[in-house]
Amino acid sequence: MLSVIIPAYNEEKCIRRAYSTIHALLEENSIEGEFIFVDDGSTDGTYEMITELSLEEENIAGVHFSRNFGKESAISAGLAAANGSCVVVIDCDLQHPPEKIIEMYRLWEQGYEIVEGIKKERGREKKMHSVGAKFFYSLISRMAGFDMANSSDFKLLDRKVVDVLNKMPERGFFRAISYWVGYNKTTVEYDVRERVDGESKWSTRGLVKYAFSNISSYSTAPMQIVTALGVVMLAISVIFGVWALIDKIIGRALEGMTTVIIITIFIGSIIMISLGIIGYYIARIYEEIKGRPKYIISSTTKSVVKNR
Ligand code: UDP
Ligand code: MG
Repeated sequence: MLSVIIPAYNEEKCIRRAYSTIHALLEENSIEGEFIFVDDGSTDGTYEMITELSLEEENIAGVHFSRNFGKESAISAGLAAANGSCVVVIDCDLQHPPEKIIEMYRLWEQGYEIVEGIKKERGREKKMHSVGAKFFYSLISRMAGFDMANSSDFKLLDRKVVDVLNKMPERGFFRAISYWVGYNKTTVEYDVRERVDGESKWSTRGLVKYAFSNISSYSTAPMQIVTALGVVMLAISVIFGVWALIDKIIGRALEGMTTVIIITIFIGSIIMISLGIIGYYIARIYEEIKGRPKYIISSTTKSVVKNR
């Protein structure tokens, strides 16, 4: 059985369409499927829609969060609830072409354990948004040591992989963690579609925040950059030190005030930035060490309760 995990945040207009489209596709290809809608604390009628659907159809389960915990948490909850021998995660807005699920499923049947959906084109996004996304991916790819350009949360995972992910306590990032775990993987390219209804939940500010937490959870490179900068500063200061001594010896000492000011400001700012970066990692350690749950489920539809 294939479990289809659909995170949904204020998507009341998209739920039914997402279900009927994907369900029809699975039927056509005689693939048995279950649907797990994770309502990420929506403030509109999303959960009512899910409940309604789950009363009509046997193969739908719904999970409702007590507040908005973010898409990553919604995916975690979906993975924990899935019963299938493979699982596919897909956006509610049908920006990920559902036909690709079939292609992914066939690849899984051939023995691949992870099938990554790779974006061919980023669809029509806000200009700022796509510049931000490009910058973010090239940055994280370089820092975390694997190519993340064009990757997405649209992927199919074997049960083995899902079990591994379910055991991981950390607040990882779904699209990166599937690279980290290894396994036999392949990719499927897709074109990002236009959103069918509703609005994107990402602001540019949100994207920047996401970028930082993503980098810090896969890489300690920023802290190493701090060390490297320190070394460079040391080298520079040795040169300036020698220069200052020579000035002193030949009696030109008072000159060079500008240099002193520049160096002071420069070192000051490097120290502040460094402290900020270190502080950021400490904050993340603090987040993890508190061991709070990734999400709080406030209710589930009856089918979820039945299975677990
Ligand atoms: N989503 C979620 N929680 C959030 C934000 C988004 O579960 O806090 C879901 C949303 O309902 C959708 C998917 O994540 O199914 C992708 O969101 P969106 O379409 O807003 O992002 P974009 O496609 O613009 O990157
Ligand atoms: Mg979208």
